Amino acid sequence: MVEDEVRLAETVRRGLVAEGFLVDLASDGVAGLEAAQTGGYDVIMLDIMLPRLNGYEVCRQLRAADVWTPVLMLTAKDGEYDQVDAFDLGADDYLTKPFSFVVLVARLRALVRRGAPERPALLAAGDLTLDPRSRVVARAGAEITLTPREFGLLHYLMRHRGDVVSKAEILESVWDLNYDGDDNVVEVYVGYLRRKIDYPFARKAIETVRGAGYRLEGNGG
Ligand code: CA
Repeated sequence: MVEDEVRLAETVRRGLVAEGFLVDLASDGVAGLEAAQTGGYDVIMLDIMLPRLNGYEVCRQLRAADVWTPVLMLTAKDGEYDQVDAFDLGADDYLTKPFSFVVLVARLRALVRRGAPERPALLAAGDLTLDPRSRVVARAGAEITLTPREFGLLHYLMRHRGDVVSKAEILESVWDLNYDGDDNVVEVYVGYLRRKIDYPFARKAIETVRGAGYRLEGNGG
């Protein structure tokens, strides 16, 4: 557990020990990263706002070092990162503070059962692929360069492929939670994305669903 709020950390640790977990505590990001790289843990519970190195960086550096121990990210509702950031960074699950202890235990058990994947799955929709680790996007094997915002938008659409997602949902997840601008910005960015991933190809991946939002074609093959 990488958590700098000492009282919270101690309370949760005691609870987890009572549930049969063995728990090591690290109270800053650097100590947490070191422990996570060497400790052979089954699961890492990682706070985002940490002294010395934030959870965002800890997770990124762990994945860059090929450590795929499942990570449960703790996010704050008013924090500067949201759940989408957590997934983009290679976290496997997230909980928003304040969280229920029962839910925490269930999530940790699920992650331990699942174990560490060799690497995150390549997301695919038709002939469009997105590798969350290398951040490489390709269509029909041809690599496509995206800006970070375009990548975030496409990553979101690919995680929800086959579903209609509204502009409001996209705005809430891909843009900063505190963004209070017009949701037309979503249209603008969908336009940028189409120019790169759709226009050069015969088949359109992103469909506009009138009055509802957008849908990325759903087949994974
Ligand atoms: Ca914190």
